[in-house]
Amino acid sequence: MSTWTNWVGNQTCAPAEVAAPRSEDELAQLVADATRRGVQVRVAGAGHSFTPVVATDGLLLDLRGLAGIRSIDAERRRVVVGPSTTIGEFGEPLWEQGLSLVNQGDIVAQQIAGAVSTATHGSGLRLGSFSSGVRRMRLATARGEIVEIGEDEPDRLHAAQVAVGMLGAIAELELEVAEAYRLRERIEHWSWADAWEPFEELAREHRHYSFFWMPSEDSAALYGLAQPGVALVDRCHVKIYDEVDASVPDSQEPHRRVGPAHVIYPMVYEPNFHELEYFVPFDRGREALAAMRELMLARLPSSIFPMEVRTVGREEALLSHSYGRDTVVISVSGTPGTEYGPYLRDVDRLLGEFDARVHWGKLHFLTREQLFARYPRADEFIEMRRTLDPGGTFLNAHLAPLFA
Ligand SMILES: Cc1cc2nc3c(=O)[nH]c(=O)nc-3n(C[C@H](O)[C@H](O)[C@H](O)COP(=O)(O)OP(=O)(O)OC[C@H]3O[C@@H](n4cnc5c(N)ncnc54)[C@H](O)[C@@H]3O)c2cc1C
Repeated sequence: MSTWTNWVGNQTCAPAEVAAPRSEDELAQLVADATRRGVQVRVAGAGHSFTPVVATDGLLLDLRGLAGIRSIDAERRRVVVGPSTTIGEFGEPLWEQGLSLVNQGDIVAQQIAGAVSTATHGSGLRLGSFSSGVRRMRLATARGEIVEIGEDEPDRLHAAQVAVGMLGAIAELELEVAEAYRLRERIEHWSWADAWEPFEELAREHRHYSFFWMPSEDSAALYGLAQPGVALVDRCHVKIYDEVDASVPDSQEPHRRVGPAHVIYPMVYEPNFHELEYFVPFDRGREALAAMRELMLARLPSSIFPMEVRTVGREEALLSHSYGRDTVVISVSGTPGTEYGPYLRDVDRLLGEFDARVHWGKLHFLTREQLFARYPRADEFIEMRRTLDPGGTFLNAHLAPLFA
């Protein structure tokens, strides 16, 4: 029996079976056979979730044999890909066709199906998550059928756009992308008041406005943000990205880079943190941020990782953090090997007062009762899940209490 461990090392499982299909037909066969035998199934992406969303003691599927860009339609701004294509693998081929991904988050290692399944996002009030760009999907369902869901069935598409692997194994995705764009980076170190007071205006004004606020001496170094000679305690590492046209030349000047979007976005992280990320309504964001700063200062020394602050524009996926509302995204981390549970529980309680939704791939404490209270269409998602997978083939011990 082999074991599977996620990237950060906080989730391990021992699947009874592991399979790596090389075709959609083989994938459908494997799932049908598992369902017939009563064996549960999960798909592993790149393993960059902190939650046990991949874990199974049944059949674990590795879809790396189904990677790659299958077609690009530059005129319609569409790209069709295999599920395990990584975000990093979109950059150059799209750029060569005059296209870019609409937005990107902090890293490019995730597989696109993994990123879509948890509503992975970047920052920008006018921009949704990766899930919001999904226009068509092919799924291998529990019965072993290939089901195609597209724009002609908006309710089903919005259920499938964020499904945490519960509707079936994604075998193919069609995404809407953007015309190629270049970014100018501006990284500066601001006081809390300068970053927080005009937060709403800055978020509206710029394509991307985000910051890391540092509660302690150690914070900046933990995310690789330290600046020699610059004291960052209770200060913010601010990132602003705006689009620029061809008249602005490419530049590698630190903190002032200019270049293609896919070159500017990615950061590099060490796997030294266990992250929680919650989403509050944009119009209560400033209030929530101020409350978080107070909590983190009061709870030192356990809250030593920076607080990352971003925004996402409203979208329609039923299980999205930004379903029907613009959001402010707040993430904090516990230090591996320490008792960070009580601190993260305090964050959960505090942000719960702001009607917070969760990132399915990052640590959270959501209960079924909270799911129904905070996700207005959770019942419709569960109904579709039960229709496509009546026996719960694609559930696991983490997801069943919420979605069975
Ligand atoms: C260093 C780091 C930086 C991060 N930065 C960001 C960020 O900027 N923004 C953000 O929103 N998140 C971020 N995340 C979280 C990450 O993007 C999500 O957890 C994402 O889901 C991970 O993708 P993955 O390919 O690793 O999927 P996994 O973690 O392997 O899987 C995620 C889910 O997708 C399902 N899945 C995967 N493939 C398929 C498939 N083919 N069919 C059906 N289900 C499938 C899995 O079963 C699982 O439920 C970050 C995580 C790390 C560790």
